[in-house]
Amino acid sequence: MALIFFTIAYVSNPKIIFVTIRTRFAPSPTGYLHVGGARTALFSWLYARQHGGTFILRIEDTDLERSTAESVDAILQGMTWLGLEYDEGPFFQTQRFPRYQEVIRQMLKDGQAYHCYCSKERLEILRTEQMARKEKPRYNGKCRQGVANPPAGVMPVVRFKNPHDGVVVVEDIIRGRVVFQNSELDDLIIARGDGSPTYNFTVVVDDMDMNISHVIRGDDHLNNTPRQMNMLKALGFTPPVYAHVPMILGPDGARLSKRHGAVSVMQYRDDGYLPEALLNYLVRLGWSHGDQEIFSIDEMIKLFDVTQVHSSAAAFNPEKLLWLNQHYIKDGDPKHVAHHLSHHLGKLGIDPSQGPDLIEVVKAQRERAKTLAEMAINSAFFYRNFDSYDAKDAATHLKPEVEKPLTQLRESLAALPRWEAPTIHDAVSGVAEAQGLKLGKIAQPLRVAVAGRAISPPIDVTLTLLGRDKTLERLDAALEHIRIQPVTA
Ligand code: GLU
Repeated sequence: MALIFFTIAYVSNPKIIFVTIRTRFAPSPTGYLHVGGARTALFSWLYARQHGGTFILRIEDTDLERSTAESVDAILQGMTWLGLEYDEGPFFQTQRFPRYQEVIRQMLKDGQAYHCYCSKERLEILRTEQMARKEKPRYNGKCRQGVANPPAGVMPVVRFKNPHDGVVVVEDIIRGRVVFQNSELDDLIIARGDGSPTYNFTVVVDDMDMNISHVIRGDDHLNNTPRQMNMLKALGFTPPVYAHVPMILGPDGARLSKRHGAVSVMQYRDDGYLPEALLNYLVRLGWSHGDQEIFSIDEMIKLFDVTQVHSSAAAFNPEKLLWLNQHYIKDGDPKHVAHHLSHHLGKLGIDPSQGPDLIEVVKAQRERAKTLAEMAINSAFFYRNFDSYDAKDAATHLKPEVEKPLTQLRESLAALPRWEAPTIHDAVSGVAEAQGLKLGKIAQPLRVAVAGRAISPPIDVTLTLLGRDKTLERLDAALEHIRIQPVTA
């Protein structure tokens, strides 16, 4: 079943041809979506979006041993969380085997491919001899002209007839012109003995059928590109434009990997990052626009220029990502931040509907959290009682001498006609004054009483959000705590 896509639109003047931009992200589902993959997905998505094009998701799952359903889920989840919505797909290569077989049959018929019966042993000997002569190991084309007497019982592989002469020129929009000699490329296996198609071949058929105009992918695929271009040309398809994105390095200059910390997109979500912070970080990794650091999605679409991506590898800087995250927590739409915060509260077993309006909590907390995971921990006390006080804060602030002012405060809070920040503020400062205490001397014990520790938003905001009943309940518990403390000399 061939997929039918339209890429070329003829308008009234037939000489003008508009090529529709079609990009794709084509992950192999052999693990989670990592930041390198997310970056190429973002670049492809931006390219499609800025040209009114189409962004396609294709799951390259032909490696049956390494591909897993969990990885597919993780990739789809990662794309959704990042907001990189795709216009077509996800297409699964494993569902396209009949189409690959069809193209293989056609190529055999047209003489662009041939059956090769060479045994593993023969290829191994060939390889050893070539290595001994210090030549690059490659298939020597023994079966290329046809095999008069095919050996019985051998399931042949199918090889592509790569041109012998000339060059393949990749006009890469990031790396510039890269030239490959055809004499360096041997006849690639496109179908194994069991008939299953190989990786480079399925990419070719898909890029052709899906009418891909721009392939933006990691530069670890650059060596596959001349082979894929030769096959595309043999199939009568003009190869797409290629952009090979350099890899991401860890802060130590080695290829970014798990040992540098989180590399999975969903790990960043779990660590309390906002998707726009990660996207903003990734767009700036190896690309710049003057000295601008903050890019909204709309600005990325408007300003990102894939041709200006640096051709050298970029180093990952977790500090900068954290800085961006803090920025988006602080300046983002509180409703949006609240939506993401609720995930983290959920992980703590908290149902945010059982307490103050989460948007108001975000507004109160956003100045003092670098991650949403941290904000969730800091906000838990609004939604559930805590089991114990921070030991150090309780020792410092819940001392016998605050029993009297806290008791007086409890009464005055209980008697407030309205539970609002200004009236609460007046009550706290009124008691401080009456007791001859500085505001902090009563606000800090009050904070430990209601929040369990000496960190919380401004005390009037904290109490407003917490509500009168819980405030009084916790003040009672704190007074009890003070009373039962062993008296220390
Ligand atoms: N499936 C390949 C990968 O995950 C990508 C191939 C491509 O983009 O052409 O690395």
